[in-house]
Amino acid sequence: MRYQRVTLKLSGEAVSGDDDFGFNPDSLEHIADEILGLHACGVQVSVVIGGGNIFRGGVASQWGIERAEADNIGMMGTVVNSLLLRGVLTGKSDGKVEVRVMTSIEINTVAEPFIRLRAIHHLEKGYIVIFAAGTGQPYVTTDYTAAQRSLETRADAILFAKNKARGIFTADPRTTPSARMYQRMNYSTILTNNLTVIDQTAIILARDHNLPIHVFDFDEKGTSQRICAGQDTGTLVANVDQDVLED
Ligand code: UDP
Repeated sequence: MRYQRVTLKLSGEAVSGDDDFGFNPDSLEHIADEILGLHACGVQVSVVIGGGNIFRGGVASQWGIERAEADNIGMMGTVVNSLLLRGVLTGKSDGKVEVRVMTSIEINTVAEPFIRLRAIHHLEKGYIVIFAAGTGQPYVTTDYTAAQRSLETRADAILFAKNKARGIFTADPRTTPSARMYQRMNYSTILTNNLTVIDQTAIILARDHNLPIHVFDFDEKGTSQRICAGQDTGTLVANVDQDVLED
């Protein structure tokens, strides 16, 4: 395996399926299968799951509430998704795989607080660790959380799971049919071209610490396993000298 320890970043939309909001049991089952498949290959897996299927802080003004308060609600949404995922992972593995949720905002009766060295210890023991409640701070996203937790837990890479996109493109392929996918690209291309596929704060953090990012189609089964095994499917964002576009 090229990677022994990875962070899988899922968006809330991975949970809601074809709908913008809510929960879809088939989607959750797919998420659980993919995570358990990766775990069965011997890869140490942590998961950061967003909350966009429940609430995003960006809609604060629409509700007439302060942004920081809206972000608190968004972070709580990620806790709901994380507990749901813990439940499904535990059920699907018949309780044979240990799954821990660690939160950045303490809710000790339902999950553990995030303690960095304990998280690493869990991963070393083969537990699946889900990081919930983002960073615990407003004005950032779970993309940033994924980069931060990856560095804290010494992950080899972040796997950014996308729905309905198989990588990073030169432009939006839905509106620009001539758009091409990057196979490999430098962090700086995302920043200078203002590509919004991943939160730019996450890109900067990953760039500064040389953390590889893979962006891939989560709907295609087994892709995360293939990436960990060494196959470059989707887009790899790293400190490459030259960007490479798909033919
Ligand atoms: N959030 C936050 N701090 C964090 C992580 C998340 O305030 O460290 C809030 C923010 O309001 C965000 C929401 O939680 O909009 C849900 O996370 P995100 O938008 O990243 O979810 P995704 O788009 O991945 O579903």
